[in-house]
Amino acid sequence: RSRLHQTESERKAETHPLTWRLKDTGERVDLADYEAKNGYTVVKTALNGQSPDDVIESLKTANLRGRGGAGFSAGLKWSLTLRGEGYPRGYLVCNADEMEPGTFKDRLLMEQQPHLLIEGMILGAYANNSKLGYIFLRGEYIEAAQSIQQALEEARQAGWLGDNIAGSGFDFDIVLHTGAGRYICGEETALINSLEGKRANPRAKPPFPGQSGAWGKPTVVNNVETLCNVPAILEHGADWYLNLSGDRSSDGGTKLFGVSGRAEKNGLWELPMGTTGAEILDRAGGIRNGAKLKAWLPGGGSTGLLLPEHLDLPLDFDSIGNAGSRLGTGLLTVVTEEQSIVGLLRNLEEFFARESCGWCTPCRDGLPWSVKLLRALEKGEGEEGDIEILEMLARDLGPGKTFCAHAPGAAMPLESALTFFREEFEAGVGRKKGPAGVETVPLGE
Ligand code: NAD
Repeated sequence: RSRLHQTESERKAETHPLTWRLKDTGERVDLADYEAKNGYTVVKTALNGQSPDDVIESLKTANLRGRGGAGFSAGLKWSLTLRGEGYPRGYLVCNADEMEPGTFKDRLLMEQQPHLLIEGMILGAYANNSKLGYIFLRGEYIEAAQSIQQALEEARQAGWLGDNIAGSGFDFDIVLHTGAGRYICGEETALINSLEGKRANPRAKPPFPGQSGAWGKPTVVNNVETLCNVPAILEHGADWYLNLSGDRSSDGGTKLFGVSGRAEKNGLWELPMGTTGAEILDRAGGIRNGAKLKAWLPGGGSTGLLLPEHLDLPLDFDSIGNAGSRLGTGLLTVVTEEQSIVGLLRNLEEFFARESCGWCTPCRDGLPWSVKLLRALEKGEGEEGDIEILEMLARDLGPGKTFCAHAPGAAMPLESALTFFREEFEAGVGRKKGPAGVETVPLGE
């Protein structure tokens, strides 16, 4: 069970907006515990004293960027949503379909601190003129489902959900919807289709959900961690939040960073945005058994591989983007010298091929093709031209070539692996020629 590796005495309200109320035991923070530590006070003050525009302005100033992985400004997303008088009331959807390989941050928040998410959703709904919210939860997250359901009942009984919340005249409630455990359901428009009872194929964007989302109504979709940051921003102010990252990053606040793979101590830490990979790896006790780091993924399987020399970069959206990868979920996967890059990629692409919804051809056919080639290369049975086909696939599955971000996400680690570790792929080419007398023609050229 993945745990947060910071003790209660290390975590403070002033510096750890996401985790300061968590217990060392990992037990769930119930309503009484949550209220005893200032919980829901900001609902009272914001709903009675601030306008939706004030709330959105605070988010923009705080530079809260989407923690699902894309880093889009949360305040900008809310300001672009059709809301207020003259528009139909829409929905607020929390994307809790956390399924990015190596990622387990939202699970910790939902299992141990569901009231922070509910509080963030109330504030988000207020800002976006929503009366009803959904938490779209990954089906396998059984413990999180129980924790959220219990918290929803506690919040309703205490009047934090329902009609006339905190005497403000604002009504809002939340429905917990559990998915069937498909990665594509985390793509926001596929999620909306699934919520409507349809097959989870992504929709074309634009229109963005903020214009036309669930049942055609304006719909805001935010990740769990993003929403969990909202209460502290409104309680302590946007400048306070922005400054939590100090001069490490222009992205505001903290981030739940984590490590998995061959580190000594896998787990999570709440640290300022812009903390370096080296600092995080250090907290994780370095590489297991003193092995040597070969590469690392900065934020899940759909991010590009980075090298040990990139460990000193600040982990934020722009710095990691400029290095050719992306921050993604901020949970590092470490790969050591004794691990095969081709094997790693085969494993990842098997996952992405299995999770493709099959709607568009490049993704449906291209991902299984890459798996076939990677399996052969891993066994040393690759053929001349296979690497060029993989390069073609990495290119042609990239941004703008497919309906949604699924295939481009799958292409990212592949492209970086081919750039940084081409010799490992070359070592997997057994036969240099095709069948006797036939030159192997590289396809796709
Ligand atoms: P995206 O960049 O297309 O969009 C990000 C968000 O910004 C969306 O909510 C989108 O609606 C909004 N947006 C973008 N442009 C907009 C505009 N012009 N107007 C209004 N809203 C706009 O990315 P995406 O496809 O939503 O997500 C891809 C990311 O998801 C990847 O970075 C990956 O790291 C991450 N991901 C996370 C998980 C997970 O389990 N957390 C799983 C898979 C992928």
